[in-house]
Amino acid sequence: MEKHLNSILEHNRSFVENKEYESYLTGRFPEKKLVIITCMDTRLVELLPKAMNFKNGDVKIIKNAGAIISQPFGSVMRSVMVALYELHAEEVIVVGHYECGMASLNAEDMIQHMRDRGISDEVLSTLENSGIRLSKWLRGFDNITDGVKNTVNLIKNHPLLPPNVPVHGMVIDPNTGALDLVVEGYENE
Ligand SMILES: [Zn+2]
Repeated sequence: MEKHLNSILEHNRSFVENKEYESYLTGRFPEKKLVIITCMDTRLVELLPKAMNFKNGDVKIIKNAGAIISQPFGSVMRSVMVALYELHAEEVIVVGHYECGMASLNAEDMIQHMRDRGISDEVLSTLENSGIRLSKWLRGFDNITDGVKNTVNLIKNHPLLPPNVPVHGMVIDPNTGALDLVVEGYENE
């Protein structure tokens, strides 16, 4: 395993000493009043902000595997609520992407990979017996358009969503950055 910690800390010292942070200084409230939910895919790290014209300070970005919200009272939805109620965000955009790993994720294979790396059957069955259905928990979506629509609907139907907050859905090409609009959130205003 390649160990990165030292090189990160070394870089960090010179980053701070050379005041390279100066061009990133901004406030905690998003200038564009947007909260973005997107995927942790490596191809989107720089591409998505460039393709959507976001710079430091413009938006709140929440990332996870697949841009999925599966729990109405989980931590991703809580982050959306914090952005809307406390951080002045006024619109939500869910941005999935083509070629997303969560579309092809096979829960049974992943559980096997857990076994291969030393997680015992006893642990797995204890979890199942206490009501944690691992294959359901690990499941993504069959296609990204449906995945984005489901997450948009889950936000739109949330009992704590402030009235009149538009919730949009898009799918981005992880190679070109091209966006397809899936849900236009202004239409029900
Ligand atoms: Zn993805």
